[in-house]
Amino acid sequence: MKLVLLGPPGAGKGTQAKRLQDKYGLVQLSTGDMLRAEVASGSDLGKEAKSVMESGGLVSDELVIGIISDRVDQDDCKGGFILDGFPRTVPQAEALDTMLDDKDMNLDNVVELKVNDDAMVERICGRFTCADCGKGYHDKFEKPAKEGVCDKCGGTEFSRRADDNEETVRSRLESYHKQTAPISNYYAAKGMLKGVDGMADIDDVTGQLTAILG
Ligand code: AMP
Repeated sequence: MKLVLLGPPGAGKGTQAKRLQDKYGLVQLSTGDMLRAEVASGSDLGKEAKSVMESGGLVSDELVIGIISDRVDQDDCKGGFILDGFPRTVPQAEALDTMLDDKDMNLDNVVELKVNDDAMVERICGRFTCADCGKGYHDKFEKPAKEGVCDKCGGTEFSRRADDNEETVRSRLESYHKQTAPISNYYAAKGMLKGVDGMADIDDVTGQLTAILG
């Protein structure tokens, strides 16, 4: 299965992708995670992306299309994948179609997590992850059972994304509405777009998604 998850920053794409990858044996392909890894490694690509990411804008289509195209060719993607954070512009969506065509692949599902923008700032600004296992938490909505200790792996180091601050979140939401929201129309015109209520609680959203994916 090849799936695209759409929705603004904070909609829960990453959280749901992690759940779906376990359930369906898919690989989560998050361009945001890949770009953060490039920034952390100090690569040329990371240096190019860093300031754009910090300002809440979008890195160039060419750069992310190249990253995804290389990643999809790797062996672990043969069983299917979930695109999380890509495509983010209509040219990226068009390039994805061409890329998949060239690789004799096609998309099975495009699902949009529908959310209320105002709630996204609070969701994003409170989130943090375990530095060891990557489990996600939230200051208000999902605290570790014991403060400072990861429920999943017992780790005691946590990290927050550099771009999860209010000012950058507002720019990211603006980029979403200007550049990414038009993708919904792109997929709707192809009759491929389905929607779920992303304001529901996490388990409920997973239930809505699995009802669509089968
Ligand atoms: P995310 O983790 O999906 O919220 O992405 C974090 C940041 O990485 C975004 O705010 C963008 O600066 C950059 N980014 C991630 N995916 C893309 C993409 N498909 N196109 C352009 N920029 C992206």
